[in-house]
Amino acid sequence: MPEITINEKGAILINKSLSIDGHSNGSLRTVTHIHSDHIRDLSKSLTQCKGIAATPLTLDWLAELGYSLNRGNCLRLNYGSKFMVGGLEVTLEKAHHIPGSSQVVVIDGDGLKVVYTGDFKKPGKETPIIDSDILIIDAVYGNPSYVREFDDHIESILADITKQLLSKGPVVIQGYHGKLQEVMHILRTDGVSAPYLLTPKTYRLTKIAERYGLSVDNYVPLNSEEGKEVMRSNWFLILDHVNSAHNHTLKDLKASKILLSGWEFKKPYRYLGNRRWLVAFSDHADFRGLINYIIDSNPKTVIVNSVRSSYADVFASEVRKITKKECVVMP
Ligand SMILES: [Zn+2]
Repeated sequence: MPEITINEKGAILINKSLSIDGHSNGSLRTVTHIHSDHIRDLSKSLTQCKGIAATPLTLDWLAELGYSLNRGNCLRLNYGSKFMVGGLEVTLEKAHHIPGSSQVVVIDGDGLKVVYTGDFKKPGKETPIIDSDILIIDAVYGNPSYVREFDDHIESILADITKQLLSKGPVVIQGYHGKLQEVMHILRTDGVSAPYLLTPKTYRLTKIAERYGLSVDNYVPLNSEEGKEVMRSNWFLILDHVNSAHNHTLKDLKASKILLSGWEFKKPYRYLGNRRWLVAFSDHADFRGLINYIIDSNPKTVIVNSVRSSYADVFASEVRKITKKECVVMP
């Protein structure tokens, strides 16, 4: 039986030699994706851990976000390729969340399989459900009321709203890194052809994602000559980080604004007033999706990581009730 602990910052530590999405001195750290709650203390890990392991896209994005990565401190792992640390065999598998996201599969010396899902959505469709002996999961939507009946249609709903708003003028979409790139890809797939104007950092992150196969097409930096010309056309979309420094400069732009929210469950969208719309677009499986993953993964034990969960204790008791499995909350 491997020794598994989770500390108060959400770091998962297995046999004291592998840490996942958190720091622990002297371990090898895997990073499932670039969201801030998964890369806490990463600078410390780059000097005090044996190194970090992640998908090539995640590592290139981390470098773009300013982390000092070099050949000596990082291990580039494609989905499905393995490495060994402290007698554990570790593999990263695909998670559908943001580009580059992974699940972590660990097999110990006795053949016991531990899976950490990381963040994911569309389990059993775009996110493979991996069978496990011990399953570690973040109950992002731990309360049974956190269900979105419209989840299967939200991508086309978002595209329809975007097209309608674009017929009246420019549109600004704000979200987090990764989600923005995913949305750009979805809108193109659903027939939105207006050019994307991107702030410099979003532009560079998109260029990197494109190198790894994400198709976006027709995007230019906001501050370039080409960008200024697009802006004069009045038919474009601006995609920017929610906390971007550019929010101030975009303030006077006469544009409709779409805010993407993972915390809306009743309706797929609603008007907020003042040309602002909220669309219930999330990068996470809802309560039912989490439970479905657990049922199909069929572990003996479920560990709920309370640091990145909501209603972790409620979720654990639902898991026991619905799946009849042993379920513990850590820390
Ligand atoms: Zn995330």
